[in-house]
Amino acid sequence: MNQKYEAVIGLEVHAQMLTKTKAFCTCTTEYGSLPNTNTCPTCLGHPGALPVLNKSLVDYIIKMGLATNCKIRPISTFSRKNYFYPDLTKGYQISQFEDPICYDGKLEIELDDNSKKTIGITRIHMEEDAGKSIHDLDIDTLVDLNRCGVPLIEIVSEPDIRSAHEAYKYLMNIKQIVMYLGICTGNMEEGALRCDANISVRLRGAEKFGTKAEVKNLNSFRNVEKAIEFEINRQIQILEDGGRVAQETRLWDGAKHETRSMRSKEFAHDYRYFPEPDLVKVNVSDSWIDSMSKEMPELPYARKQRLISQYSIPAYDAAIMVEDKYLADFYEEVCSKLVNKNERNYKHVSNWIMTEILRILSDKNVGINEVNFNTLHIAELIELFSEDLISSRIAKDIFPEMISDGKSPKDIVKEKGLIQVSDSSAIDAIVQKVIADNPDTIEKYKAGKTNVMGFLVGQVMKEMQGKANPKIVTDLVKAILEA
Ligand SMILES: [Zn+2]
Repeated sequence: MNQKYEAVIGLEVHAQMLTKTKAFCTCTTEYGSLPNTNTCPTCLGHPGALPVLNKSLVDYIIKMGLATNCKIRPISTFSRKNYFYPDLTKGYQISQFEDPICYDGKLEIELDDNSKKTIGITRIHMEEDAGKSIHDLDIDTLVDLNRCGVPLIEIVSEPDIRSAHEAYKYLMNIKQIVMYLGICTGNMEEGALRCDANISVRLRGAEKFGTKAEVKNLNSFRNVEKAIEFEINRQIQILEDGGRVAQETRLWDGAKHETRSMRSKEFAHDYRYFPEPDLVKVNVSDSWIDSMSKEMPELPYARKQRLISQYSIPAYDAAIMVEDKYLADFYEEVCSKLVNKNERNYKHVSNWIMTEILRILSDKNVGINEVNFNTLHIAELIELFSEDLISSRIAKDIFPEMISDGKSPKDIVKEKGLIQVSDSSAIDAIVQKVIADNPDTIEKYKAGKTNVMGFLVGQVMKEMQGKANPKIVTDLVKAILEA
């Protein structure tokens, strides 16, 4: 990016709420039903059908407001956002406009250099989703209205974000929070979390904002970073060439790695917002807010700090564990099953997760909550090598069998005779043999080529089929050579 310029970015994040029923009717929000089966007169907008607000939606948004340091408005209202689209049979979306329920919040993000930055949150409001148009299954466009009326919250940030990377971090924080709160799956690829970015650039030091473009269709975390990066550079290029950035809505094309113009940007007044006459005001009492704050779980940042202090693992490890709530749960569950609960073993558990477990998950492209690992067996395995009963190499070798057959690592090790030999006299016999078999190597060592020791240790390990305790082997070989 050209250093003469500075980017100004605000994000609008839509999160689909995990309520059982829709925002204003009793239709199920279940995903994957046959098209147009989860519908009723209310969510289809039939004449005379009246919406009733789902209380769980208010519970969830209050929790999100509390988690992002927002003020909660005692009285808020709904409005109609009017526009025509084939998948919006009502001709309007019920949303909150003038007085969103949550406002004036903030979120602290931690950047890669460990510095912290606060991003303001302008507002969080409730709204309903529209249906889905399907263009690629038939020569005609098909419409599935199951999603009509599914509850969303929209989290609007202040234009405090200055780079694609900060946007990524902010979005990651939002994702973690909604997952920890249990109000949204946080899955961007499935559309449960959606993000639009308002991007403009200005000369560094300038006060006035440049003209912004809104970029839509950022359907993965990687795309958010790429699309913002692309858009910043596109706008800088226009300014450098003496042109003017147009206020417009642009779509990210993930295949071509570029944003392209979709339509000129609409303004709020284009939607003819007006108060929704079919819904009463939302009254949130202090006691309602109190009862929600009592239900608040430990949030990612607090959990990270606790993992560091409770298990003495490095901040780096803790950050990886808390990134996914289920991974942090898994870490703590394995730790709870250790016989010897000490710092050394806690660190072994996080190492094992960061290497072996995450590799399996990435190979299978699944989340930790989708795999049924036996946490007791994993704790056993970790203690076997932590106590030098098996080498870490053997631990890695038997891990696949442990998972596929559900056998305990102790049984596998016993069956295959893999217990590491730590009995010095047994090892010593082999060391003596290897030394006797390699007089040339011993000469080289005595002549100053001390690196041949690795070869001798390797020979002993080979003779003992990898089962000798490598530290004891090294000590014995060294003792003889230096005698
Ligand atoms: Zn319905």
